[in-house]
Amino acid sequence: MKKRCVGFLLACVMLLGLLPMAHADAASLNATPNLNLTYEFSDSAQAGTIRYVSQLSASPNFHASYWNDYVDAAGWECYTACISMALSSVGADATPGDLGDYWNEQQYTGGDPFTTMAWDVRPYDATFLQRSFATSMDNLLSHPGSYSPPIIHLTTYSERGHYVLVAGKLSENTYLVVDPANDEPWKITIENNVATYIRHEEERTEELEMAVQYYRSAGALAQTPSAPQNVPAASIASAGHHADGTTCSSAAMTDVPAETNWAHAGIDFCISKGLMNGVSATQFNPSGDMTRAMLVTVLYRAAGEPDVSGVENVFEDLGADWYRNAVAWAYKTGVTSGVSSTRFAPSDQITREQLVSMLYRYRQLTGATPSEISALDNFWDAGRISGYAMEAMRWAVTNGLITGTASDTLSPGGAATRAQLASILMRYMSL
Ligand SMILES: [Zn+2]
Repeated sequence: MKKRCVGFLLACVMLLGLLPMAHADAASLNATPNLNLTYEFSDSAQAGTIRYVSQLSASPNFHASYWNDYVDAAGWECYTACISMALSSVGADATPGDLGDYWNEQQYTGGDPFTTMAWDVRPYDATFLQRSFATSMDNLLSHPGSYSPPIIHLTTYSERGHYVLVAGKLSENTYLVVDPANDEPWKITIENNVATYIRHEEERTEELEMAVQYYRSAGALAQTPSAPQNVPAASIASAGHHADGTTCSSAAMTDVPAETNWAHAGIDFCISKGLMNGVSATQFNPSGDMTRAMLVTVLYRAAGEPDVSGVENVFEDLGADWYRNAVAWAYKTGVTSGVSSTRFAPSDQITREQLVSMLYRYRQLTGATPSEISALDNFWDAGRISGYAMEAMRWAVTNGLITGTASDTLSPGGAATRAQLASILMRYMSL
């Protein structure tokens, strides 16, 4: 044990020469094991550069400007700092401020921060993968600049755990760790997915969960502006028009992203067609959950709200009236058969495969024959698609209704947000 500690200290001393300090010599950092990543503060993100910003306000690496208005959160937003560093390494300029907006809005209090990240990440066309640590490291090493360093969650250090970035491989089973709550990089030993980490002189060992890694699909970030963006929706809403002079249907909604954002056109479309409404006069809640009840209501509207009087309700769990007619219609027409013979699960968040299945059945209902259907061989998780949804998924991918959450990932069981549904519906209606 003693010998091991000495070895660790020696390694730390050796690491001091590689410290990711703000003004460190980039050339020395480019030597192995740093994987051609440099660690430096910059106002603009570049693929291959980690903007390392310690959360410790006394640190020379700490830059208050990086945190925008969320500087007060810097002391505990450990995962936010990691997310931001990981994004910056694939050239996506998402600052913790952008993320902070989201956490505030959602009154985030716990759970897995990554599963609700899509909204923050998607504007930059970077998305995340959850893979084993070994696979994530393989990605990082074999595709420099395309995959971020993996973020791993060390659960034993605090109530909500501790997120660190694994930036490089030092030797077999030993890795360089950038830890926003430390002022220096550390090393971690990972063998057979078991991590041994020393922090504050405490050595702890734990089994790793899946690592999170951001991914940049080829060329997807070409239009990423170099400065933090997220143009406030209000600046567009006040004008009520798009840059080209056309009327903006979502102008009254203060939480709809700017028109340059992928989500904007779909939201405009659904509002203008009366398919979706805001959750209030000024809020669309783009990142909000899309429930099964909401989806059948949207499809019912799209179908022109046919009369359903006399249609028997077979479900025992319809708790509210606002979706009752829509569910009756959807059941009668075969758009849905419920989650069982007696349950519709109206409040469950709809999954991507449930969503495309309902759209597919609706498509068949309207008489249109599904066009050519291709295989899903390019997606590693195609085997996770439920049997009932397989044909619908093929159809949806073939017709561009949904794209992967990464170039090789379909996430059939992943949740769909209101903004995603709006985009899908827009594409669907133009088929
Ligand atoms: Zn608009």
